[in-house]
Amino acid sequence: MKITIFGSGYVGLVTGACLADVGHDVICIDVDEQKVARLSAGEVPIYEPGLENLISKNMAAGRLRFTTDAAEGVAFGLLQFVAVGTPSDEDGSADLTYVLKVAETIGQHMESYKIIVDKSTVPVGTASKVERAIAKVLEQRGLSTEFDVCSNPEFLKEGAAIEDFSRGSRIVVGTDSERVKNAMLECYGPYNRQRDKMLFMGVRSAELTKYAANAMLATKISFINEVANLAEHLGADIEEVRHGIGSDPRIGYSFIYPGCGYGGSCFPKDVKALAHTAEAAGHPADMVNAVERVNSRQKNKLFEKLYEAFDGQLAGKTIAVWGLAFKPNTDDMREAPSRSLMESLWEAGARVQAYDPEATDECRRLYGERDDLVLADKRDEALEGAHALVICTEWKAFRTIDFEWLRKTLLEPVVIDGRNLFSPNTLKAAGLSYYAIGRGDSV
Ligand code: NAD
Repeated sequence: MKITIFGSGYVGLVTGACLADVGHDVICIDVDEQKVARLSAGEVPIYEPGLENLISKNMAAGRLRFTTDAAEGVAFGLLQFVAVGTPSDEDGSADLTYVLKVAETIGQHMESYKIIVDKSTVPVGTASKVERAIAKVLEQRGLSTEFDVCSNPEFLKEGAAIEDFSRGSRIVVGTDSERVKNAMLECYGPYNRQRDKMLFMGVRSAELTKYAANAMLATKISFINEVANLAEHLGADIEEVRHGIGSDPRIGYSFIYPGCGYGGSCFPKDVKALAHTAEAAGHPADMVNAVERVNSRQKNKLFEKLYEAFDGQLAGKTIAVWGLAFKPNTDDMREAPSRSLMESLWEAGARVQAYDPEATDECRRLYGERDDLVLADKRDEALEGAHALVICTEWKAFRTIDFEWLRKTLLEPVVIDGRNLFSPNTLKAAGLSYYAIGRGDSV
């Protein structure tokens, strides 16, 4: 099939590379000229395991290319995927500027029947807005070319995006058109061979499914963080409680890891957008609002613990930060807990020495050169001359440390662990003051 994808970010690139890999012909369009130039030269601007190989393999096979030429892209694919950003607007709603801009662009260049596939995460009712935007431009052009709009939300996780796209639990398509259904079955056929993973439903249901899924996952995280904070006050250990509840199959172990809050490009904005949708519908979503409030509070936890450990005397201190990305196996720092921590530290007059296996370039891009930020090339370099260590991301490389050596290296024996990677007793035995999340006996 011929497929066009608008937006060459995390979702657009993974979708493009994966669909090309199963034999489709794919053109990826982006408005960012620099990005397209880099991609066309075989350079992948984001870190996602396996993506660079998949892109270069499919470019070499002639099934995947990148361009800024929207006219060429619109003429090319029967399917026109929309995978552009939908950031939070000031009031928390999803900003549809980029999605509607793509709709206009498609309307401007469309000469034959097209299926527009909303893959961006968009509020209920967006497919109708996209339809109206295209129809308006076609009318201005004096055309009545046929087209359909469907919803195909994406559930991939950064860090495991290719695996998720290829072997995800479901492929949701919102449409009431047989023509669209058949085209989507053909598009995803190679991913749908083992069992029928395709869930066809109404467009509005598909749009809401994505928000409900992310809000549910965010709820699990905020719930366990709430209980972790309670455990801290009551002298219980959240890690024991986690095992105690996760063993019940109705609850399960996934997504109940306590930590320093969720971040990334999706949960924060999608939870806010769902809350806004609910408010606008006259049906405020109390639980969703609470999930967001708990998370904002949780992102301050690491700073609060440091502040407590140093009796508020953080000015002039050097703090080693391990992990900048919002989660392991990505370089994405959007809404990452590390950012709340670093920004609070700078405000308090402290210096940061940070290390991340993949996100240091992104950190440099975000914060530029500054005297109170050193980006270390190696994990242990970040500890040199540091008063304390804070762990923000659970990269595998942080799981094994010689604690005796750590105590001797740090100027003060303070370790703040935002991901509960270690046993409090082991660190205590090594002479370290260990502050984790929800582990009452460790503080
Ligand atoms: P991103 O910011 O990484 O990429 C978006 C890209 O779209 C950018 O390269 C930008 O230059 C491009 N763009 C903007 N306007 C354009 C236009 N008019 N024409 C062509 N390209 C244009 O975004 P992302 O993380 O890939 O997310 C895209 C959408 O998918 C969002 O709605 C997001 O919520 C959703 N989503 C993201 C993830 C994720 O893990 N990142 C997972 C599931 C769903």
